[in-house]
Amino acid sequence: MPVNISEVYSVLPSSDRRTFKCDICSSYFSTDKSLDKHRKSHGTERFSCHICQKKFHFMSYLKAHVKCHSDARPHVCQYCGRSYKHLHNLKEHRCSGWQV
Ligand SMILES: [Zn+2]
Ligand SMILES: [Zn+2]
Ligand SMILES: [Zn+2]
Repeated sequence: MPVNISEVYSVLPSSDRRTFKCDICSSYFSTDKSLDKHRKSHGTERFSCHICQKKFHFMSYLKAHVKCHSDARPHVCQYCGRSYKHLHNLKEHRCSGWQV
């Protein structure tokens, strides 16, 4: 029994109407033409991360992303396993491992 993919594609289960979803902002559109037009309004990914060069459509996305870089704690104590953002924090921490 042949399945018409275009009938299944982009149809919301809760809706009897065919809808097209913008994968950038999650807005819904009733026709693919209006979705097309809408997507063009997003333009290109204008905001890029200065750390990893990853690109984003929205400043808010970029801001949320950059946060993940700032939360990174690359300096890990080999004695107690605590991690720190800056090396001097690691050096200054009171570590029982260092007393041995
Ligand atoms: Zn959109
Ligand atoms: Zn990044
Ligand atoms: Zn330690």
